[in-house]
Amino acid sequence: MSTDTTQRGERRSETRHRNRDAKGRYTDERDTNQREPPGATTPTSATSSSAATRAAATGKRRNRERGNRALRTAKQGGTSERGTRKRGRRERGRGERGNEERDDTEGERRGMDVMETVPGDRAVCLTFDDGPNPVDTPRLLEVLRRHEVRAIFFLLGQFALKYPDIVQAIAADGHLLGNHGMHHDDLTDWPEDRIEADLREATEAIASAVPDRPIAYFRAPYGQWGRSPKVAAALGMRPVGWRLAVGDWRPPGTDVLVERITTGITPGAIVLLHDGGGDRHQTVAAVDAAIPLLRAEGWTFTLPADGPTQ
Ligand SMILES: [Zn+2]
Repeated sequence: MSTDTTQRGERRSETRHRNRDAKGRYTDERDTNQREPPGATTPTSATSSSAATRAAATGKRRNRERGNRALRTAKQGGTSERGTRKRGRRERGRGERGNEERDDTEGERRGMDVMETVPGDRAVCLTFDDGPNPVDTPRLLEVLRRHEVRAIFFLLGQFALKYPDIVQAIAADGHLLGNHGMHHDDLTDWPEDRIEADLREATEAIASAVPDRPIAYFRAPYGQWGRSPKVAAALGMRPVGWRLAVGDWRPPGTDVLVERITTGITPGAIVLLHDGGGDRHQTVAAVDAAIPLLRAEGWTFTLPADGPTQ
């Protein structure tokens, strides 16, 4: 609930969010999203903290080679499946938890359970995590309203309790509601009963603000699913992952975010964005800019086909 909690969650998010490749296998997010987009140099439209700038510079050096490979892979339309998979294993083994075998096994299971795309050749689905946020969520709602786009909001129970009016505003605009756990915990090693208790508590927190609205989706914090897809499904929630993440949890500048969204989008992609967890004004501005650019290219914004009607 505190600022400290928020900052800790954001810092952890920076290291844990991951993407999947075209076959649903996990790749390290830095491979595909922390790279500099083609032609980009430095953030231009927004200020970055010196710490973020230093971190970005370090990450750039460290990931230049990997990023270039990832870019080539992306441009080849996924023909480098094997290379992506091998690289993903190395990244996990070195950087995250060093338990590759179990992680891979879970990856196979997640691939069957977690929705990452929506139907439609030129359709995308925007999702926003870690709110409600009293500053940026209302700004985001205004942007989405103006562009007539609906999205899924994956809410943290602790903030739903604190800002029920914002939960109500999200629902009033016709967006879909998702459960993102109570406190943004890493569920990887949690037993099913503990996951169930957390998910139930978060659903109750959200429902206390909007008792008549369905909470039909679940996304695991950090994309660390563990046993949660099965638990969420048993509670009537569809596990929803993502196909594209753009690194907005470490704001790189609005222009860079717009570039990553517009160049990274693929048919049916569910897009991971954040309205909470830190200062998200760059995300709000990037969404405002990217929606008309994508529409001009024929993209439409949609929601899961099996979602509740509003
Ligand atoms: Zn999150």
